[in-house]
Amino acid sequence: MAAIIDGKKISQEIKEELKEKVSLLKAQGKTGALAVIQVGADPASSVYVRNKKNACAFIGIESLAYELPEETSEEELLRLIEDLNQDGQVKGILVQLPLPAHICEDNVIKAIRPDKDVDGFHPQSVGALVIGQKGFVSCTPAGIIQLLKRSQIEIAGKRCVVIGRSNIVGKPMSLLMLREHATVTIAHSKTKDLPGLCRSADILIVAIGKPRFIGAEYVKEGAVVIDVGIHRDADNKLCGDVKFEEVEPIASAITPVPGGVGPMTIAMLMNNCVQSIEEG
Ligand code: NAD
Repeated sequence: MAAIIDGKKISQEIKEELKEKVSLLKAQGKTGALAVIQVGADPASSVYVRNKKNACAFIGIESLAYELPEETSEEELLRLIEDLNQDGQVKGILVQLPLPAHICEDNVIKAIRPDKDVDGFHPQSVGALVIGQKGFVSCTPAGIIQLLKRSQIEIAGKRCVVIGRSNIVGKPMSLLMLREHATVTIAHSKTKDLPGLCRSADILIVAIGKPRFIGAEYVKEGAVVIDVGIHRDADNKLCGDVKFEEVEPIASAITPVPGGVGPMTIAMLMNNCVQSIEEG
């Protein structure tokens, strides 16, 4: 029987800690706002944006919402980002992805000043992570490190397999595990013998983006399993990339879906905002 890693509880702890920190910073005259930009009205994006605003309200920082119409041009969006870059009170800028097809995401990400890039997607933030310099770290992978540390799971010296090489999860995740001194292997769609490779892992991090793909044959007895996936199954119930009920009896610790990795992303976004306010 695995220990269930409770992301809901851990994310709440982090938000409580941040709330306290924000009030201490306020007492020192340090305040700031998070600007959240949404282009179009994708319903899933609207839910994420609302959750981010609520989290800001909870920890006590201001959020500025920019809800732009679908037909907003790239130029208009870049102009808004430039204004926010120049605004001294705005300490974090977040553009909700995906963007409509006529806007180039790379151009938008590059336009955000790296010291306000609280999503950690700017090439400078990613480069800083690669060479171990200071910079904002992508929120979902940073949240997974917190889940492991706050569950007293040792990382140094462990064999870690990360399934997935996306820019927002797989790659930064692998770099963070390396920074924590794990021995890291990245698996992807061209990897041979995925089950065999995964069975070598002490810590298996699954960000494959395929519902209930990883079963018992991928998991070594006693491994820690982190499930990043979020999907709705045929019955409209949330599920992850891992077959939870099959893997849970083998693992020593596992994240559930929902209530595992998911809540950590926003907590770490708030952490990045507070860091930005602190650094002034
Ligand atoms: P993605 O689709 O960009 O990447 C999936 C990766 O899996 C790719 O790099 C691909 O090479 C690899 N892959 C695909 N098929 C494979 C196979 N058969 N064998 C080995 N590797 C294979 O997805 P993503 O953006 O990295 O997200 C992954 C999952 O995490 C999705 O379910 C997404 O919804 C979820 N997600 C959750 C959060 C959160 O806050 N919990 C945040 C971001 C993403």
